Amino acid sequence: MLDQNQRPSPISPTIDLDARGVQHGFLRLPHSRDDSAWGSVMIPIAMIRNGSGPTALLTGGNHGDEYEGPLALYELARTLDPADVSGTVIIVPALNYPAFRAGTRTSPIDKGNMNRSFPGAPDGTVTQKIADYVQRHLLPRADIVLDFHSGGRTLDFVPFCAAHILPDKAQEARAFAAVEAFAAPYSVKMLEIDAVGMFDTAVEEMGKVFVTTELGGGGTARAETVRIARKGVMNVLRHTGIVAGAVERTPTSWLDMPDGDCFSFAEDDGMIETIVDLGERVQRGVVVARIHGTGRTGIAPIEIKAKMDGILAARHFPGLVKAGDCAAVVAVPQG
Ligand SMILES: [Zn+2]
Repeated sequence: MLDQNQRPSPISPTIDLDARGVQHGFLRLPHSRDDSAWGSVMIPIAMIRNGSGPTALLTGGNHGDEYEGPLALYELARTLDPADVSGTVIIVPALNYPAFRAGTRTSPIDKGNMNRSFPGAPDGTVTQKIADYVQRHLLPRADIVLDFHSGGRTLDFVPFCAAHILPDKAQEARAFAAVEAFAAPYSVKMLEIDAVGMFDTAVEEMGKVFVTTELGGGGTARAETVRIARKGVMNVLRHTGIVAGAVERTPTSWLDMPDGDCFSFAEDDGMIETIVDLGERVQRGVVVARIHGTGRTGIAPIEIKAKMDGILAARHFPGLVKAGDCAAVVAVPQG
């Protein structure tokens, strides 16, 4: 029997991943179903290759309800002139395409969360098959990966670009240099609360540079955050030397997320009241949100307090909250 990792991927690209110039096509994943017997999931992919230089893999729509990445990357795929490229740019603007089409975080086909599905499986669910293709066929080509995220329907963030604290300090320094080049209003040294199965981890374990973002949220995109995404991706391409020219530097404030005390979770259902807005300074012990029980009147709200000094970096977005939801994230300004 073949080892799972040696089974061929069912995905076939409709573009030639070794060709030069501009190509627009699909990663075609056979998906037989009620409404299409021999149907496929067609995941858009663009590739721009010219001259010699590094390879950047740019992804959006890892979660299907986050829009700054797709808005920046469909535009980049349409407008990037190969004459301006030295190297290769692979663009997958809506990585979990079924989720993106449904406007949901996870796939409507298998409920797969792409960012918990790595390294994937060639004989797994649709989401696992996409992850496996990225893991075995796209990542080995890449020198740097920029994976766009935002808060989706349920979270809202101050706009930041981020990379992780890594055991390999040279790799970490390369990632933070790319974050600095992205030049979002905030730059974060990020702590993951649940790193298993993440795209981030898959890339970092290959020793490559991984950069991500959280650029807003609420299931939409704002004019400001789309501008940040478009400027940031060009800056990263300039930083790597794939696109010529100087990085367009603008001030960025570095934030730390030192430990799990950054996160506050709701312990009951109810209606959430934000007491401080995104980007505001908070001190340890200050109330950042209150959860009001709605079943009857006369009940005191539950207070959610900051567990450290910092700024409010993220908050629950919808007006109703459930027990276990992430209610607030505090990050610590550096220096
Ligand atoms: Zn996301």
